[in-house]
Amino acid sequence: MIKENLARINEQIAAAASRAGRKVEDIQLVAVSKIKPVELMIEALNCGQKVFGENYVQEVQEKRLALPAEGKIHFIGHLQSNKAKIAAEFCDMVETVDNMKLARKLNHHLDLLGRELDILIQVNIGEDPAKSGVEAEETEQLLEEVLTLPRLHVKGLMTIPPFENTPEESRPWFSGLRKLSEELVGKGYFKEHAPALSMGMSADFPVAIAEGATIVRVGTAIFGDRPAK
Ligand SMILES: *Cc1c(COP(=O)(O)O)cnc(C)c1O
Repeated sequence: MIKENLARINEQIAAAASRAGRKVEDIQLVAVSKIKPVELMIEALNCGQKVFGENYVQEVQEKRLALPAEGKIHFIGHLQSNKAKIAAEFCDMVETVDNMKLARKLNHHLDLLGRELDILIQVNIGEDPAKSGVEAEETEQLLEEVLTLPRLHVKGLMTIPPFENTPEESRPWFSGLRKLSEELVGKGYFKEHAPALSMGMSADFPVAIAEGATIVRVGTAIFGDRPAK
């Protein structure tokens, strides 16, 4: 089941990349395994899927310890600064940094652990009061401050746009995040590499790829439905 699902998603990623004139290697699939047992992650890993997305701090440690080292974990949920230690210790990337209190806590724990961490800045591109993320207009300010923290490496931007009924309706949010990243590049940020853009989920990742996503986060289409919370 997981094998077929991964093959299908990877084909859809390749097709969307090709339609957009982009290289498939420039798009990373994060298999969102929140609430799913680690056995399914290992099954996916055995099918070649290397990166997993987790939302809940309480699941991270156990899954990290059970998952072979070639499997990587991105934290993609809302992270309270008092839980920063676990993310700092057990994750390979935190995609959801949206305030300096959290960034400082991560940096502090990384310092104690002797680790460094790739992060993304989460942007609330739709100014949705129900969603986390820094406002688009405040992103540069936050980026500037996060760049002073030596243990954090800012790789790009991430967003969870407002829920829409069709993938096409999400397109303006995805292009909005891309334009924001282009503005930042224009101002001299992200000199070493083009900024990563983490956007798109099961329902809309092909549209996100058309708009420049370099990371897509897909859960349900790989692991099946999750129980309602
Ligand atoms: C759950 C989740 C996903 C995956 O959503 P699906 O619709 O199951 O693909 C992606 N990103 C974030 C931040 C999530 O919380």
